[in-house]
Amino acid sequence: MKLSAHFDSHEFACPCCRRDAVDPRLVAALEDLRAIVMRPIIVASGFRCPGHNRAVGGARNSYHLRGQAADIRVPELTPAAVATAVRAVAALRGIGAYAGHTHVDVRERRYSWTG
Ligand SMILES: [Zn+2]
Ligand SMILES: [Zn+2]
Repeated sequence: MKLSAHFDSHEFACPCCRRDAVDPRLVAALEDLRAIVMRPIIVASGFRCPGHNRAVGGARNSYHLRGQAADIRVPELTPAAVATAVRAVAALRGIGAYAGHTHVDVRERRYSWTG
């Protein structure tokens, strides 16, 4: 299902069960981010059911479980550069910088970390 101009629900689907619950605020924020970086955003992980979240070692209260988080990659941009761009999007309050991806989520309060 098309969620916005550049995102489809299948991009956020859980790899094991294909459930794809996603918070529209996350999609809107990713559109804002896409406009800033002017490149496609690859969603490496979106919604996770509890079983899949355990399988990938996700936090027990992960925002992925609520469809409020995405692990993203942007072609030609390092995760550090992506994290910098993410800070310009007010709704993306959770930012986790990892070697291979950047975690973003729409939590209530700003929080950032390095994985
Ligand atoms: Zn699943
Ligand atoms: Zn994540």
